[in-house]
Amino acid sequence: MVATPLPSLENHSPGHICPFDQACSYLEWAAKELKLDQGVVEILSHPRKVVTVSIPVKLDNGEIRVLAGHRVQHSDILGPYKGGIRYHPAVTLREVSALAMLMTWKCALLGIPYGGAKGGIPIDPKKYSVGELERISRRYISELIKDIGPSVDIPAPDMGTSAREMAWMMDTYSVNVGHSVPGVVTGKPVSIGGSLGREMATGRGVMIIVREALADQGKSLVGVRIAIQGFGNVGCAAAELLHKEGAKIIAVSTGAGGVFSPDGLDIPALKIYAAENRRSLVGFGEGIPISNADLLTLDCDVLIPAALENQITEENMSQVQAKMVVEAANGPVTLEANQFLADQGVTVLPDILANAGGVVVSYLEWVQGLSYVFWDEERVNGEMEYLMVQAYRRVIQESKARMANLRLAAYTLGVGRVARALTDRGLYP
Ligand code: GLU
Repeated sequence: MVATPLPSLENHSPGHICPFDQACSYLEWAAKELKLDQGVVEILSHPRKVVTVSIPVKLDNGEIRVLAGHRVQHSDILGPYKGGIRYHPAVTLREVSALAMLMTWKCALLGIPYGGAKGGIPIDPKKYSVGELERISRRYISELIKDIGPSVDIPAPDMGTSAREMAWMMDTYSVNVGHSVPGVVTGKPVSIGGSLGREMATGRGVMIIVREALADQGKSLVGVRIAIQGFGNVGCAAAELLHKEGAKIIAVSTGAGGVFSPDGLDIPALKIYAAENRRSLVGFGEGIPISNADLLTLDCDVLIPAALENQITEENMSQVQAKMVVEAANGPVTLEANQFLADQGVTVLPDILANAGGVVVSYLEWVQGLSYVFWDEERVNGEMEYLMVQAYRRVIQESKARMANLRLAAYTLGVGRVARALTDRGLYP
């Protein structure tokens, strides 16, 4: 029997880039370079498990709404499934499936003992009250209770979710199994076994990768002009840490718009403004208003897309002026744009390396929880930095050895490690 790559629960509209097809083309690209067996590629092109649940929720006005909740488990060859849960209106099963596959390569590249998964609910969390979000989160996780667990599948925050949602999910899981299970999620509040440093981890990882890549070009962060698309958890932390290291953050934006100042923005003030205005930057006194799209083509040294996927495409790739693009979001640069930019001499640091700081500290949180020993923030940051820098160096080395761009190098390392483990484990039965 031939398996369907993904259930045709939804048709992807023609003309749009299907994120899952795109993820498969990255896999095939790496597989070709690695000369992988076609059977192995076939296995890795299919998520191991795809779950969609219905989430009936009573809204504050008494109305009942039924939402869809997805969880896609791509691979557990190297360890428990691992990956975030996203609340965003653009969530689709295909996008979640693509992101689950990315998590597999990311964990393998970083050398952490996890497989890949992702979850998502297609909602705009800003349109729901805290009480509604709590009911949605609790019902979602209770519907998935048999599919997750500290040695099975460990969710974490992603776009639109945070430590707050993780606490509700950990509590719901624990109440249902009858005892407290902190290891079922990572990115939890520190009060219930979360790790110090987790909240800033993805942004810190981005800062480390930018710093290392600039150092390889004989430059430091001081005075480097950086534009950041997205001011959520990742974009905001990256901006703050890069600013602290002396970089000039010349522009930041969100979907609603942003600000640009060639002399550099006051990031601490911007952070306070965004926190007071439900993450919006519109109306911030300083700088010139700029759209999310125009930020991508600004004259800057480093461009950090830290929002959604498919932001730099065939349509705008020739207008990108940055000499370095760092994918803090998942999949913001399409395959065609990546090749074009690399051919132009632009250094593109791929997502599975650049934004891995979050899952690395998730791993450190899990390890601390399992060993009942909790570290101070300095130790967490130090361990994370070590793993990030090692992975960065492996990617650079692989890129030189294969004469391949950094994305292909990162993929051959990630995919190669999973394929080797798959071959060693063999196929059951
Ligand atoms: N959502 C983050 C990611 O895409 C973190 C995942 C995790 O910590 O498991 O890498």
